[in-house]
Amino acid sequence: MLYTKQILLTKNPIPLFRNTLLILVGPSGSGKSTFAKQYFPSTMTVSTDHCRAMISDSSMNQRVSDHAFDLFYFIIEKRLLNGYPALADSTALRCKYRFKLQSIAQKYLYHTMLLLFDLPKEVCLANDKNRRAQVGENVLDRQWYYLEQTKQELVKEYYDQILVFHSLEDIGLFSYQWQPPVPAVNMPPNLPIEPPNLPIAEPSANGNVAAVQMKPTDQA
Ligand code: ATP
Ligand code: MG
Repeated sequence: MLYTKQILLTKNPIPLFRNTLLILVGPSGSGKSTFAKQYFPSTMTVSTDHCRAMISDSSMNQRVSDHAFDLFYFIIEKRLLNGYPALADSTALRCKYRFKLQSIAQKYLYHTMLLLFDLPKEVCLANDKNRRAQVGENVLDRQWYYLEQTKQELVKEYYDQILVFHSLEDIGLFSYQWQPPVPAVNMPPNLPIEPPNLPIAEPSANGNVAAVQMKPTDQA
């Protein structure tokens, strides 16, 4: 499947405006944090795992997740407010989390680039087994359900660029080139589009159109 704003990996570096929020999306073990480390300065990466660790000494402590997310969005917003690019490193497999990141980007007229880590489950499982802080197969099964849902939802979500990685080799092909900042066109991506205030034909009891009235705006 190809998304509307999907770009393809080529040998040419991807142009990235300095005012871009990069949003990583993918299950555990798909290589998001490794990608971030490989290609971007550590100060640019804001990670939910790191936020958990900063407030509880453990990147796996789910008990502090709400506070960690507060911190995650707070730091991202501060970077955007000050004109710096940011990379959001979290699984972001639920649309509510992606929408929150989109809304921060919109507020500061930032471009959004979504990077979907759609790697085979066996690769993620193997990667998970090889690391110290494992999430385990059950968690990955649940994340897979949301990954499949995400792939459907992305058709209807708006990002300036979407890039999909299907393998670790794909990730190795990534390259980019910074461009001077240009304000992004601000368009409300995920809000329901208001229907225009058109006249409504009211059918009478006999089925004929008896009257035409304006739909009250509060019901539009
Ligand atoms: P989580 O959502 O749990 O934070 P993640 O998507 O950030 O997971 P990483 O921590 O980046 O996943 O990767 C998990 C493991 O997979 C790494 O410890 C590493 O061993 C392996 N790995 C990740 N990316 C690559 C790569 N490009 N080439 C080889 N191995 C990789
Ligand atoms: Mg990670």
